[in-house]
Amino acid sequence: MDTNQSTSRHRRVVIFGGTFNPVHRAHTHVVKEILRLMGPDRLYVVPAAVPPHKRGRDLVSTHHRVAMLEMAMAHLPVILSDVELKREGPSFTVDTVRTLRHEVEGAEMYLTMGVDAFFEFHTWRDDKLILSMAGLIVVTRPGVGYGADLPRDVMGRYLTDRIDPGYTWDEESRCFVHPLLCRIVPLTVALVSPLSSTDVRTCIEQGDRPTALLHPKVLRYIEDKGLYR
Ligand code: ATP
Repeated sequence: MDTNQSTSRHRRVVIFGGTFNPVHRAHTHVVKEILRLMGPDRLYVVPAAVPPHKRGRDLVSTHHRVAMLEMAMAHLPVILSDVELKREGPSFTVDTVRTLRHEVEGAEMYLTMGVDAFFEFHTWRDDKLILSMAGLIVVTRPGVGYGADLPRDVMGRYLTDRIDPGYTWDEESRCFVHPLLCRIVPLTVALVSPLSSTDVRTCIEQGDRPTALLHPKVLRYIEDKGLYR
């Protein structure tokens, strides 16, 4: 894992954010597929800050989430960014994109999200401002009701109805394009499992060992620290 965060010129930069409570095998699979299919010059993995009043028994503290991410992503060429963890007050993606943009001046930026999160995008703070700075990579997420393929027609309608009527499908680049805003790239990720962090937590709570769902070091860490019991 790269920790160099100095400012330099980069062509394509991808951000993969999440709560990662804990990071699981589908997260690392998505990261590997983005590296393979999108060939970014940089991929930032950005754990979200969660306000203390929202931390229940289920949400472990930041240092545990980061420690597990470090273990799970150690072998991958990604940058683990603390941009949201350092920020005071509520954390919004628009601020994260703004901050990271300064580290990679002139780069084409993308945010990655599962298709479930994509259909909530209109509720995000400053959704169009985000799209003026970064595009979206929308990945398949089985188990959330959209089937194995991304529903391109539904995505198109959602974009024009809820985000901006200027989006159209471009067959050549196979993405949604807009004259002023950044593009939306549907990315079918092969063999991604329907797994979620909730499944992992439930499994541990019930006294099981989710060996197939987690990196072995992450599972050992959870057991050593007695997390999610
Ligand atoms: P929880 O169950 O706690 O809500 P989660 O498994 O959805 O957690 P997050 O940390 O919220 O994990 O996810 C980070 C990002 O990874 C999100 O964009 C989410 O859509 C994506 N993601 C998580 N699991 C999968 C999966 N199985 N397939 C594809 N994308 C996924």
